[in-house]
Amino acid sequence: MASSTFSQSDIGSARNRLLFIHRKIPYKIAMKPLIGLIGGTGLGHALAHEIKGDAIAVETPYGPPSGSIARGTWQGIDVAFLPRHGPQHTLPPSAVPYRANIFALKSIGVTHILASGATGSLREELRPRDLVIPDQVIDKTHRRVGTFFDEAGLAAHVEFSQPFCPMLRRVLLDSSSGVDVTLHDAATYVCMEGPAFSTVAESRMHRSWGGDLIGMTCMPEAKLAREAEICYALIALPTDYDCWRPHDPGVSQHELLKEIIGNVEHATANSVQLLKTALEAIRAKPLTACNCQKSLDLAIWTKPAGMDADIKKKLNPILARYCSKQ
Ligand SMILES: [Zn+2]
Repeated sequence: MASSTFSQSDIGSARNRLLFIHRKIPYKIAMKPLIGLIGGTGLGHALAHEIKGDAIAVETPYGPPSGSIARGTWQGIDVAFLPRHGPQHTLPPSAVPYRANIFALKSIGVTHILASGATGSLREELRPRDLVIPDQVIDKTHRRVGTFFDEAGLAAHVEFSQPFCPMLRRVLLDSSSGVDVTLHDAATYVCMEGPAFSTVAESRMHRSWGGDLIGMTCMPEAKLAREAEICYALIALPTDYDCWRPHDPGVSQHELLKEIIGNVEHATANSVQLLKTALEAIRAKPLTACNCQKSLDLAIWTKPAGMDADIKKKLNPILARYCSKQ
């Protein structure tokens, strides 16, 4: 298992070279903002064509991430792009290496993440092809490890009442003027395990819980980002009305699928435009300090002297800021 310590200067610029984290090189806390982009269904493919950069393969204590990370510049901003489902979309939601993905992004200095994901809509007003910036999550996943702090030797409990970064949400919402799309502020995203979709009874239950969107990938991604002190916001792409809303009996399954694919393509194009506008805004007005970036300050219950040395070493990119203050 590779150590998690390395310097950002060691990322280098050689195209397509592999980077393996080396234990002898000290990790440095990132000072300059670096925007991570996690592309979900639709957007993952589109962004791979938009962002040209060095492909970096990062080894982590949790194995490799979904794919190599494209490290480059987009809209004049330093970005690191990772396709959540892999370069060929081979990873189903339950098999996405969420911990490796967030750890790898943290390790190369990512400070903020703008993610995207296709969803079903649980509300009439959240129409397919609209875009939604959710503000809450209900986590129904049960086959994914959802924390970096699951080993004896270090107990930590991050505050997660607001699962998405309010500052990044605001940047996205304020960028809607540059895009010809209806952008919805605030929605509760129900994250299910999948891969099969809901039954009608489940879909109705999710609505009764106050759910507005149903998806399969937001968790534990958002929670891991908070544990890693990375600001995280999501662009949700509703592609259909899930099964709570009866389909038009005159529409065949084939036509329905064609419609969903068309909705994904349309929403994807709008998401790319929204991201471009948001990055332009960030370039014009740099991001300010945010509480997400010090989420461990009140979260770690184990005194530094009592922390397990191996865990400290393993989680060094995540713990470096906290431990340097002790
Ligand atoms: Zn934040």
